[in-house]
Parts: sequence; structure tokens; C-alpha cells
Amino acid sequence: MSIERSLREDIVANGLKLTPSGLSQGTSGNLSIRFGGGFLITPSGVPYGEITPDDVVYVDMDGHYEHSRRPSSEWRFHRDIYAARADAHAVVHAHPPYSTALAMCRMDIPAVHYMIAVGGGDSIRCSDYYTYGTQALSDAVVRALEGRLACLMANHGMIATGANMEQAMWRAVEVETLARQYTLAMQIGKPVLLTDDEVAQALEKFGNYGLMSKQISTPSQ
Ligand code: 13P
Ligand code: ZN
Repeated sequence: MSIERSLREDIVANGLKLTPSGLSQGTSGNLSIRFGGGFLITPSGVPYGEITPDDVVYVDMDGHYEHSRRPSSEWRFHRDIYAARADAHAVVHAHPPYSTALAMCRMDIPAVHYMIAVGGGDSIRCSDYYTYGTQALSDAVVRALEGRLACLMANHGMIATGANMEQAMWRAVEVETLARQYTLAMQIGKPVLLTDDEVAQALEKFGNYGLMSKQISTPSQ
């Protein structure tokens, strides 16, 4: 099987996991993988259960595509993340309940658990709000992702990047778990923040942990 075909199948298979993993429902969210000087991305507005490998759209870095399907309305931020971040080879965007609830309150996730390291820094930032699909939204999420591997999106959802699709999906689930734990903790009391030293130690250790240590990207040619 060609690399392109296996990446198309990877996108379809992981799209099917979005609802069971609690990350999205309906047609919300979108997935992409860097490929051949551009990227492969889910089609816009198609239920995940109906997307076939051939429906996945190849988009180049100028935003050009040749397909009967339109690429996800969010192709701009997928493209801009690949342009800005050499470490990103897959991008997952979803509207999971707890991440989105925090994003509705325009809250970052601070260092309330050592798993904050999953986002690559001492917080998971919430971007500014802009209309979905716009260049302004893309610019805002690229800013929120500076030095980070995931972010929340004000009044919208979340984004997780990865060295491959498996890692990006894993990161998305971990960010949603963290958002849920933080939301619960705020209902009980005032969550205590880890110190800079404690976060630094977690970040250092976490680099070698499980899926985080997978820095090998999906072949993109
Ligand atoms: P698409 O179906 O166009 O990918 O849009 C879903 C979404 O989540 C927009 O932000
Ligand atoms: Zn969205």
C-alpha cells in the first residue's frame, strides 16, 4: 500500500475514534496529517462514519486542492501549524466538553497536574476568539501554540498536535482529561499550582514517557 493510502486510512480510522473517545460528536472537529509538501485533511461537514479514504482531501501550502469534496473549513490553521511548527506532523481539532467549557470561560489550563507536560509547557493556553475557518482564527491559534503542543480555542474547542496521528489523538484525550480534572477540582476548592521547578522536572521526565517519546514522524513523502 502506498504511504499516501495508509495516511488516508489513518485519518478515516482516527475520525471514527473521535466520538467514542469523547472528543467530538456529529461533524465537529477535523484531522490532518502532513504529506508531500502539503497535508491530507478530512472533508468539510461529512459525518466521520461516512468518510472514505478517497474523501480525504490533499491541500498544498497555498491552500490549493483538486477534489470534489471541500477540505475542512479549518484548513487554514492546519496549514499554518505545519508552516510554523516543524515538529507537527498531525493535527487534531475537536470540541470536547470540558476543554470547550473552559474555553467558553476563556480560561487557560494552568499547572494543576504534572500531566500539564503533555501540552509541552507550564500551561495550555486558550486562544482569542475569531469566527471559525478564518485567517484571524488561524493566526490566534498559532500564537496560542507558541512553545506548546496543544491549545484551547475561545468559545470553540481545542487543538492537539503530534509527531504522528497516534500521538496527536493521545494528546487530545489527555488534554480533555486534564480539563475535566481541573473543572472538577474548581468545584471542590482552589486547585494548587505546581511550582516552576516541579513543572520543569515533570517536563524533563515526561519527554521519555510512553507515546510522548515517539518523536519519529509519520513518513510524509
Ligand atoms: P469542518 O466540518 O469544516 O471540518 O468543520 C468542523 C469544525 O469543527 C469547524 O471548526
Ligand atoms: Zn471546530
